[in-house]
Amino acid sequence: MLSFNPDNVALPQGHYINGEHRTDGGSFFSVSRPSDGHTAGELAEANASLVDEAVEVADRAVKESGWASCPPRQRGAILRRWADLIEADTQLALLEALASTRPVYDVKHHEIPFTAEAIRFYAECADKYSGDLLPTRDASLGMLIPEPYGVIGAITPWNFPLSMASWKCGPALAAGNAVVLKPSELTPYSTVRFAELARQAGLPAGVLNIVQGSGAVTGSALVAHPLVRKVSFTGSTQTGARIMSDAAHHGMKPVTLELGGKSPQLVFDDAGDIAEVAGRILRGFTANGGQACVAGTRLIVQRGIADALIDKLIALCQGFKPGVTWDENSRYAPLIDRRQAAKVQQVTEAAVRQGGEILTGGKRFENTGEGYFWQPTLLSNVVANSPAIQEEIFGPVLSVQVFDSEEEGLVLASHPTYGLCAGVHTKNLDRALRAIRGIAAGTVWVNRYGRSGDFIIPTGGFHGSGIGKDLGRQAFEACQRYKSVLIDF
Ligand code: NDP
Repeated sequence: MLSFNPDNVALPQGHYINGEHRTDGGSFFSVSRPSDGHTAGELAEANASLVDEAVEVADRAVKESGWASCPPRQRGAILRRWADLIEADTQLALLEALASTRPVYDVKHHEIPFTAEAIRFYAECADKYSGDLLPTRDASLGMLIPEPYGVIGAITPWNFPLSMASWKCGPALAAGNAVVLKPSELTPYSTVRFAELARQAGLPAGVLNIVQGSGAVTGSALVAHPLVRKVSFTGSTQTGARIMSDAAHHGMKPVTLELGGKSPQLVFDDAGDIAEVAGRILRGFTANGGQACVAGTRLIVQRGIADALIDKLIALCQGFKPGVTWDENSRYAPLIDRRQAAKVQQVTEAAVRQGGEILTGGKRFENTGEGYFWQPTLLSNVVANSPAIQEEIFGPVLSVQVFDSEEEGLVLASHPTYGLCAGVHTKNLDRALRAIRGIAAGTVWVNRYGRSGDFIIPTGGFHGSGIGKDLGRQAFEACQRYKSVLIDF
């Protein structure tokens, strides 16, 4: 039985600093439940002086607790215990489902196992990476020695609060760093429980700290702090640019930026079974209500199968049912808030004003009160400069463009701003390989759309979609800096 009453859930109040809950800070902000718009609670925002304290605690903890200097296998063992506690915990699923867009069924069966497994992946990295011995002139020994940065500042968005936290904390902690994490102010609760469980697993106090608050106050204080030696961020391209500039002005610290996307789903006539392809396209733009950086929101389909595929998609779109995230039968996510719903509506209306046609959806589900459940939407005849093609909407809206030749399809697939992911659907291997080469994107999926449980595959974008990678060995390596050593003997 996964369903629960959201009014009966005890919410962790405030921040988690040095292994303790803290409720102090500056002004208060309230947190809403996306499913019904009710206020879940109020939290004090971490102002600059509280962020300062959290970072100093982290800096002291990483030096004095032995976290950076302990045998790496010991770090790995603590992270593995943490992953086990995450999987066994009964509160995490409630906290995540209550205040985010994630239905409790998905949280329990996907989000939490995925979070735990990401931590386990990085636990294994802890003692399996070394530096390098470099070929130098005779009578010298050249080495490259990896070291943790010290304190890493992590900033996460609201769309997948727990798994985003694991992608940032797993590699940073495994590499021997301390972390100060600011979750989105829209989804603050589950991350506190996540940090409590790390402490229970044996992570020294102060090595993982959570500060709550807005990007403007708490996030920017974190980025600017001189003891934060690296920043890892996931969110919009606009905020990513701001963080990069702030990081440059406050100590020239490296950044990992996992940003927005406007990813194409390129479907050729020879893609195979239409129903199967339609299922992939559908999941690609409706998962989490379209609120995923990797959402495949541009269908670019070859003329020969366009009508059949669109008909199938329309039928599938009309089968969705809204339901509050605390009901175990709900599978379809609400939009995070009124602001996000307004954005989806504006972009859809702009596309229609420019001659676009709504094939299905285009509005909220009726009778969902203050829960912003948006109907899966298909837009055709969308002009290339429409915001529905140009902008990351972050809602379940798919624009449809039809092409004739392979070259034309590849041109449409490229995006002037983003290069996060692409889906290529064809049974022709040569064509698939040409498309992989031809599309500028950090990830290309062929005959599938979306991540697997293969944590070894990194994720990250080209162009406006970001810098650096989350997941994979690359994320672990990016949490270390490398010291060059030359010894004469
Ligand atoms: P943002 O990029 O604004 O926020 C992401 C995180 O960064 C949040 O924790 C936010 O804080 C924080 N933040 C904001 N400004 C700063 C700053 N100056 N310094 C440090 N941290 C900061 O995304 P939003 O939540 O506002 O969503 C807006 C749009 O971004 C969406 O419509 C969507 O298009 C896109 N987006 C993309 C995501 C992705 O995965 N690529 C994820 C989320 C959003 P807070 O929000 O708490 O104030």
